[in-house]
Amino acid sequence: MIGHSPAPVHPSRRRVPVVIVGAGPAGLTLANVLRDASVDCVVLEAESRTFVETRPRAGFIEEWAVRALERHGLADRLLERAPRHGACEFRAGGERHRFAYAEVSGHHHFVYPQPLLVTDLVRQYADVKGGDIRFGVRDVELHDIGTGEPSVSYTDPASGEHRRIACRFVAGCDGARGVTRASLPPGHAHTARFEYGVGWLALLAEAPPSSDCVVFGVHPRGFAAHMARSPEVTRYYLECPSGDDPENWPHERVWSQLRERLSAAGAAPLTEGRLIEKRVLDLHNYVVRPMAHGRLFLAGDAAHLVAPIAAKGMNLALHDALLLAEALIACHRTGDEAGLRGYSAACLRRVWDYQEFSQWFAELLHGPSSGDPFRAGSAAARLRRLFTSPAAAAAFAESYIGATPPGNQR
Ligand code: FAD
Repeated sequence: MIGHSPAPVHPSRRRVPVVIVGAGPAGLTLANVLRDASVDCVVLEAESRTFVETRPRAGFIEEWAVRALERHGLADRLLERAPRHGACEFRAGGERHRFAYAEVSGHHHFVYPQPLLVTDLVRQYADVKGGDIRFGVRDVELHDIGTGEPSVSYTDPASGEHRRIACRFVAGCDGARGVTRASLPPGHAHTARFEYGVGWLALLAEAPPSSDCVVFGVHPRGFAAHMARSPEVTRYYLECPSGDDPENWPHERVWSQLRERLSAAGAAPLTEGRLIEKRVLDLHNYVVRPMAHGRLFLAGDAAHLVAPIAAKGMNLALHDALLLAEALIACHRTGDEAGLRGYSAACLRRVWDYQEFSQWFAELLHGPSSGDPFRAGSAAARLRRLFTSPAAAAAFAESYIGATPPGNQR
């Protein structure tokens, strides 16, 4: 057998201030803000540009995050095109209960599908600002992150060459399935996990929205939801057993369950359409603590996952990216590392707020179908309180739309 000699490594001559692994909302926001502040960076992305610009996922962006993107010149198209939502509707026991959270909190969601935001961020960074982004890279590995001279190696997709970039800092923005989290030394970082024990069938339908707001169907047969994505596409969710096979959900079964679980007196019938995405999410959350080690800083889903119960994940990814950008810029300009030292703790405060709210909300949505009369009764009380107690309504509205971070109030 002929042995393979190891591929030669081509080190870069200069030390780049920041290597960002992953071109999702976190990595691209960070890259744009750094580039604007003349902090050089390289973005390494495993997928192609077309893939990241078309991957469907989130759709609801909280107003504080939109305003923060706007301040960095990253929200022009979003503000032009995204409708604002300020209400959601609960359907339970055949009745409709509309909750106008914008009236209570003064803030809205912007409905802007994640692929559009990613497209805007790639365009701004790569095409407008001439930023360095390398798509389709393989075998990304981090080296020496515990030292002052870290580097990131990868295989170049075109040449097959193994390259290495020397840097000062590495931003791990490579999502839930990335590689950077694994570089935190065991014993240093701890991952707190929570399994909900239920699945959600996540669906995208080629059908216009059937309501002017998000609809949550709270039903003994299982939770269901309707969320607009665009005038032509709507996201739906159906609670299902954890580990269920999407093939168990043919077109007819999906639509009959959606009709049943979202039915309520006076509600418009659902506009049905072809299902263009159908996958089962086994609902779980995790939080990595701390979100940094040495010269590696995690951001977004790489550091924490929150099940899409209250549409929080992308918003947290943006929050991390903005804080990390601020800290890296301060360090680059003045050598002040205080922001970097406080980065993990500052992010985790919001992360835990959102995790706690998602868990609270999940119980309201899943309790009635749990088969446990105690959980069902408690869930009904949670829902009832939103419509009978102004204090409960205000607390829900603030958590649902996301409190404005202190630094954003300017
Ligand atoms: P990602 O978007 O996952 O980006 C990570 C990037 O890293 C990817 O491009 C990936 O290809 C790349 N990568 C991975 N591994 C490597 C590697 N080894 N080397 C180089 N690159 C790598 N959130 C909301 O706020 N609102 C919502 O309405 C909402 N709805 C959702 C609906 C669904 C069905 C799902 C699944 C999620 C939803 N989310 C929502 C969550 C949101 O999509 C994520 O939280 C968000 O994408 C996180 O952004 P990120 O940049 O951290 O990670």
